[in-house]
Amino acid sequence: MKSIDYLNWSLLVFHELDSTYESSKQLDTLLESFATSFVDNKTDFKRVYSSNKALIGVVLNSDENLEELVKFVRKTNPKIPIIVLTEKDSSTIPLQVLNSINLVMNIFEDSIPFLTGQLEIEFEKYIKSIKPIFFGELMDYTQKFKYPWHTPGHAGGLMFMTNPIGKMMLDFYGENTLRADLSISVPELGSLLDDEGPVKDAENNSARVFSADKTYYILNGTSSVNQVIWKGRVTKDNLAFVDRNCHKSLNYGMVITEAIPMYMIPRRNSLGIIGPVKLNEFTKEYIDTMIAENSKLTAEQKKQKIKMSALTNSTYDGLCYNVNKIKETLNNNVENLHFDEAWYAYAKFHPIYKNHYAMTESDNFIEHPPIFASHSTHKLLGAFSQASMLHVKDGTKDKVDFVVFDEAYLMYGSTSPQYSMIASLDVSTAMMDFSGKELMDETILNAIHFRKRIAQLNKEYASFNQWFFSLWQPEKVSYNGVLTNFEDVPDKYLLENQNCWTLDSSNNWHGFNDIEKDYVMLDPIKLTLKCPGLNIDGNYEEIGIPASI
Ligand SMILES: *Cc1c(COP(=O)(O)O)cnc(C)c1O
Repeated sequence: MKSIDYLNWSLLVFHELDSTYESSKQLDTLLESFATSFVDNKTDFKRVYSSNKALIGVVLNSDENLEELVKFVRKTNPKIPIIVLTEKDSSTIPLQVLNSINLVMNIFEDSIPFLTGQLEIEFEKYIKSIKPIFFGELMDYTQKFKYPWHTPGHAGGLMFMTNPIGKMMLDFYGENTLRADLSISVPELGSLLDDEGPVKDAENNSARVFSADKTYYILNGTSSVNQVIWKGRVTKDNLAFVDRNCHKSLNYGMVITEAIPMYMIPRRNSLGIIGPVKLNEFTKEYIDTMIAENSKLTAEQKKQKIKMSALTNSTYDGLCYNVNKIKETLNNNVENLHFDEAWYAYAKFHPIYKNHYAMTESDNFIEHPPIFASHSTHKLLGAFSQASMLHVKDGTKDKVDFVVFDEAYLMYGSTSPQYSMIASLDVSTAMMDFSGKELMDETILNAIHFRKRIAQLNKEYASFNQWFFSLWQPEKVSYNGVLTNFEDVPDKYLLENQNCWTLDSSNNWHGFNDIEKDYVMLDPIKLTLKCPGLNIDGNYEEIGIPASI
């Protein structure tokens, strides 16, 4: 039970009151060796189950509620052990239940030590099945209590015990943080820079989960991810075509590669919100003309194709591009496509974002150059600060030379990586793999509730001739074909229908008159609050709040 002991997890036991005294006593004896929470009604069961994510298993001793509770647990956790206790024979249990549980126990049939052993095996199997690849190895290694004879020099925290100031740090961070602060010298854990062992397995798992062909963990933020991508694919005097409002790290990417920048100019609406780049800027005609008319380029340089094109996806106001539409328009007239998705690593995990993220799987096979995505895993998923990922989807014809690309990666990596940061990337991946859809459902629903409430309040205040904030969002949405007030559309419909969020010129709440069809959607979870004073046409209203206030 070693691997479970240190997790301190508990067992949730549902025990219906009408069981005999004898079975309760037997049950108590059986469960003595585990930390347990007992509940005797299904309301409590659901409450405790939903609020406690540190459960090692669920024990159900019930007849009439059995099916409902099993369904309830399995909806959120396909793996947690469900053990059904019965005094009867198991043939009375419905087949549907039997298919979704791990064990049926008759507590009068076998000895307590035998039954305890059975439970322990189920619990260990469960922990093993959910342990992330690298983080799991790191925990196991730390549990071996080895003296470290390598860097970092604090030797698993021992150094901090030698001095009151160090002790302060040790007490604050806790021993595990410091004992897990290992470095490159532990062969069991593999190597980030040499790309081997559990680190490599974890990166491959992230590639699978995020639909990339290859994924790199980068421990110096997306600022470095962006530069690695550029350094790996672009060189002196190559032509670059970049969203002018890109992050500064892309500018450094161009400085360091000595690329020649040309900028796409995003639209702006009358509220000052930065909109999407025009789709026609990706056409061959536009790009050819732009190069031909650029007086700074030599005749030789004008013969080149665009080496790299970069876009921010989603924008800071939550506009997300239809990536398939861009692939189709580009029609291979740039050699590499880069989407800076620093604030958008979650898109893969909810169908509302279908086709609107870099690593999207095309429904129909559209030709495309190598595509790169930068994710600040630490920004909107659960990783330590600076922990980021670089994802690559290889071109349909043009392939990435990974020997060269790996060199660019090495150029930006420390030879003493922080292993806990790697673990946090591995954990983020495993969490999203396990319940990404569920987490996103909850997040998007929260945002929808907030959006509806603000829309309602705005109308209530308006009925008293008073102002209230509003959100930059559709006032009306096509609900089953009928334009309906946003706040009156059912949550579930808004959660499941991308077209509610797609910008369209016929329903111009957004202020971009010339928006292309099916090109851009508003991310439901990016909320832009508007103050009164300026309407969407750019005219001043009667009353307003100056921006400085
Ligand atoms: C934050 C950000 C980055 C840089 O990411 P860090 O992880 O902070 O280095 C790059 N691009 C965009 C669009 C960002 O918002």
